Amino acid sequence: MNTNDSPSSLFHHPVSGEFDGVNPSISDSSTYSFPNAEAMEDVFQHEVEGRYLYSRLWSPSNRNLARTLSAMEGTEAALVTASGMAAITCTLLQLCGEGDEIVASRTIYGGTYAFLDNMAPRFGIQVRFVDINNLDEVDRAMTYATRVVYTESLSNPLLNVADIPALSRLAHGYGAKLLVDNTFSPLIFSPARLGADVVIYSLTKYINGASDCVAGAVCASKSMIASMTDCTRGTSMLLGPVLDSLRSASIRKNMYTLPLRMKQHSVNANFLARCISETGIHVHYPGLVYHPQHDLFASLANPGFGFGGMLVLDVETSARANALMEEMQRAEVGLLAVSLGYVRTLFSAPGHSTSSEIPEEDQQEMGLSEGMVRISAGIEPDIEDLWQRMRGCLARVGAISTLTPDSSK
Ligand SMILES: *Cc1c(COP(=O)(O)O)cnc(C)c1O
Repeated sequence: MNTNDSPSSLFHHPVSGEFDGVNPSISDSSTYSFPNAEAMEDVFQHEVEGRYLYSRLWSPSNRNLARTLSAMEGTEAALVTASGMAAITCTLLQLCGEGDEIVASRTIYGGTYAFLDNMAPRFGIQVRFVDINNLDEVDRAMTYATRVVYTESLSNPLLNVADIPALSRLAHGYGAKLLVDNTFSPLIFSPARLGADVVIYSLTKYINGASDCVAGAVCASKSMIASMTDCTRGTSMLLGPVLDSLRSASIRKNMYTLPLRMKQHSVNANFLARCISETGIHVHYPGLVYHPQHDLFASLANPGFGFGGMLVLDVETSARANALMEEMQRAEVGLLAVSLGYVRTLFSAPGHSTSSEIPEEDQQEMGLSEGMVRISAGIEPDIEDLWQRMRGCLARVGAISTLTPDSSK
């Protein structure tokens, strides 16, 4: 892999600011002037390098963030949006319309599931939900009207790993595109390098990492991005979920610490997963050898970034899960909050929060249980100390006996 074709290519985007500032200047305009009418007409007809028209279409700051993202993903182009949901819905509506079909993983983000289940049919789009790890079931759900196979690289919340190369072959066999939401695993997986046609992000999570804004991105071919920004037919242009330039500049700066953050999130999550599982509590974490896709994860992942920052533990009842979360917030293990990828540890109960849009029977089929607590491990430097506090909480809510030996010592 040469350096321009690895995830660290995000560092190879030298754009300097006015007065040679180390960061590009932030664009502070909604509209742009032209030296003459002909130059303006040109930009309406086709993209002109270095020329901008109107910031709903493109702004220099959004362009810089998009270029950093496409360099990281190894795609020809990228587009940034005001939220992850906007990235998802604009991409799906660009690719699918009346009479088209989508085959989607059942274990996806609740908002995406709700869009596919409740809104896509209003556009005449038929959706079939499948177990994305069962390639025969995916194959059986496909027809030649299938335009899109939709999955998350690491599923929410159970952290099953999608076999992107196999799904890509399957989708392409039907002339469909493979869309992968890689929100849980930036840098760890490079879905486009593994065969995905479109890589989608909620930048709100790991990529920005500061939990101070909501944003999204679509990384794809030049033609796909051009279709989405088309002035008369593009979903990004016409539905208009534009990201503000101040925010995109801030997200881009935060991306430079993404490699360091991802490594530390993984170290912390791995440490917690091991310590918790050794108490006998059931833990879902792809870094544990008993995880069903441990080997698949290792074979698809870019080296050096670990197994990710998310883990799920099961304390069996909803009452105990709630007590545990409250106890952990009190003991300053972290914060009781939805979302993920923050520098501090966050936790929530998936069934009652981030997956609550998913009907209860589907939740059961997904393997969700009511005693689950999803943890987004932070980048705290004192993870042993954090574990001791968490261990105290587990004991106080009766999830482990106070006599359980502590294997971290
Ligand atoms: C949060 C999230 C989204 C939605 O992103 P927003 O930025 O909140 O709109 C989509 N997919 C996954 C996997 C997410 O975690």
